Amino acid sequence: MTETRDTVILGSGCAGLTAALYTARAGLKPLVLEGHEPGGQLSITSLVENFPGWPEGIQGPELIENMKKQAARFGATYEQADVTRVEADAHPIRLHTSIGEIHTRTLIVASGASARWLGLPSEQKLIGHGVSSCATCDGFFFRDKEIAVVGGGDSAMEEAIFLSRFASKITLLHRRDAFRASKIMLERATAHPKIELRTNTVVEEVLGVEENEVKGLRLRDVSNGERSVLNVNGMFLGIGHEPNTKMLAGQIDLDGEGYIKTTNQVFTTRNGAIVPGVFACGDVQDRRYRQAITAAGSGCMAALEAEKYLEERGH
Ligand code: NAP
Repeated sequence: MTETRDTVILGSGCAGLTAALYTARAGLKPLVLEGHEPGGQLSITSLVENFPGWPEGIQGPELIENMKKQAARFGATYEQADVTRVEADAHPIRLHTSIGEIHTRTLIVASGASARWLGLPSEQKLIGHGVSSCATCDGFFFRDKEIAVVGGGDSAMEEAIFLSRFASKITLLHRRDAFRASKIMLERATAHPKIELRTNTVVEEVLGVEENEVKGLRLRDVSNGERSVLNVNGMFLGIGHEPNTKMLAGQIDLDGEGYIKTTNQVFTTRNGAIVPGVFACGDVQDRRYRQAITAAGSGCMAALEAEKYLEERGH
């Protein structure tokens, strides 16, 4: 028979690893299931300057590695597994995963959010060949090249400014004429000599599929329907993130964009009523703050609630 665990944590980003540390120290021997983006968004970030305790900053991957080791020291274990379906109302809770079925008394969902893509076939074919959603990971490869950044929010501005260290010219493409970005970020991008902002513009196709490298973008001006080609060697997406909650559809309440709805910070619900033993933390339930430290904080809360839940039931 499948062993029933006390705690399983979905996701190994900042929220999941903090939950792992707390539940491990409580003796719950948590199993952390790492999906296809182990370490979460911090693992693809460079210098983190706003996580308290590192006056000089710390590299994102190093911070994640430290957290992993810290939780492991108290008994947390890690498995690489894709979770396809969760039966949240079963007792114990059942997880259908690529490494088999897992049973657990408590589940902490910390599966985070992943970068959004435009969804063009040509874009998908050229990911890793000039198309990227991570400026800090891939910017280095575009030294003295011309590139485009897509989006009108803070992420797009931040990416464009960061990429200006490498690229010779950056064209920022936004689909509307009004920006969502904060005033300060927009001003920085506008004032930057290497960055040109182009509004009312959508990408229709990424050129270069046959050559297997980005050769340019076919654009359409939505204000007059005019088409043009922009000669660039790369395209970076800065159009937001999508929560990783597919495996939870129909099991717990999600909002219109798929983020987990929580009550009292970390309790999940189904039709408004609390789902016993299922907690959520980090970006998968937070569209507002999305910081490493807030993710860690909510991971701690979820762990304390899971511990309390088990204790109240005599485990
Ligand atoms: P966001 O604010 O939701 O902006 C996403 C942008 O992408 C919007 O301009 C949106 O256009 C555009 N977009 C979305 N889907 C698109 C599509 N399919 N095609 C073309 N354009 C598309 O997301 P974000 O920039 O990632 O920021 C999220 C949160 O993190 C915000 O609260 C932000 O302030 C914060 N943040 C802060 C910083 C910083 O302060 N340093 C850096 C990064 C993020 P529309 O405007 O037309 O909807």
